[in-house]
Amino acid sequence: MQAYLDYAATTPMGKAALDAYQRAAQVLGNASSVHRAGQHARELLEEGRALLAEAIHAHPLEVILNSGGTEADNHVFWSVSQQFEKGHIITSSIEHSAVLAPARFLEASGRFEVTYLAPDRYGRIHPEQVKEALRNDTVLVSIMNANNEVGSVQDIRTIAEMARAKGALVHTDAVQSLGVLPVDVHLWGVDFASFSAHKFYGPTGVGMLYVRRGLELVPHMMAGHQEKGFRGGTHNVTGVYAAGVAAREAALKQPETHDRLAFLKEKLQAGLSEVEGVTFNHAPDSSPKVLSATVHGADGEALLMNLDLEGVYVSAGSACAAGTMQASHVLLALGLPEEDAKSSLRFSLGQGVTEEEIAFAVSGFKAAVSRSRF
Ligand code: PLP
Repeated sequence: MQAYLDYAATTPMGKAALDAYQRAAQVLGNASSVHRAGQHARELLEEGRALLAEAIHAHPLEVILNSGGTEADNHVFWSVSQQFEKGHIITSSIEHSAVLAPARFLEASGRFEVTYLAPDRYGRIHPEQVKEALRNDTVLVSIMNANNEVGSVQDIRTIAEMARAKGALVHTDAVQSLGVLPVDVHLWGVDFASFSAHKFYGPTGVGMLYVRRGLELVPHMMAGHQEKGFRGGTHNVTGVYAAGVAAREAALKQPETHDRLAFLKEKLQAGLSEVEGVTFNHAPDSSPKVLSATVHGADGEALLMNLDLEGVYVSAGSACAAGTMQASHVLLALGLPEEDAKSSLRFSLGQGVTEEEIAFAVSGFKAAVSRSRF
């Protein structure tokens, strides 16, 4: 037996998406070709786009298809850097590196000042903080919806209202939300939002940037005629169609998934709590997908390896930072001492997880901790 509890890193493709992928992979033609084969590919592409748009309550014309969350986040910062000569940007210190890296890049250019809002101890950014940080020259506010390491969920609707009232553009990285939390870009009132199919049971390497209709977006650095010139490169018809099918399923099942994951998370937390010296970093009202635990007095790397030997697959901090075993910037921002941050694990849940797997993970955890404490 094994327990895959790393759904925030990536989700396995669902059956409907896999079937769609296989069907679409047999379709001949480039979606930009004018012959009938090309038109057929274009139909599938547009069907995928329409399904993706519907899942986030957007119009298909508001969707720029791309390779995923990193590209979507970077596109927004790139666009802002080309649209404005200078200005002020507000983001948070717990964003994914797909936001933090371009923010730092713009800051280093000397043309933009960036305010990194600090979260509370549970990873929450309060709208009042955004209000206080807004300036007359603020050009962009970029705050994620659900955090990938501690699951904190931000009040994007209120943040967007405040930012737009001041004339700033608003972006949210909603990569960890679709299928787990309610997603409605129009209700949120944001200008841009990033999504990635491999986080909602679709294929890796497919994603989208939502761009509110009527808004100016500067074309991607990767120039080309596709996506109305906003993002070059031959369309990934197969991936987009499968992503659309996955998005439809994820959105339809969202309320049920949310409640099921909340139930499993409670069970997992209860089990992990039986081990002495384990504390939790996620808020009680965090996304049910993510559980963050600190195992005091244990070596994080040893924990991960011992859990792996037990057949329990989790992350230390974010998967993107794994391999380097640096303390997670998110946990440090929450105020954890470096030593505790390095002794922390992220368990993340998804549709395929069963109660038996949770019990298996808890017993694997107990065995791994006993071998990993110094
Ligand atoms: N944003 C968040 C919050 C994420 O969790 C991730 C992936 O871990 C990304 C962006 C990057 O998405 P992608 O893997 O599609 O580039």
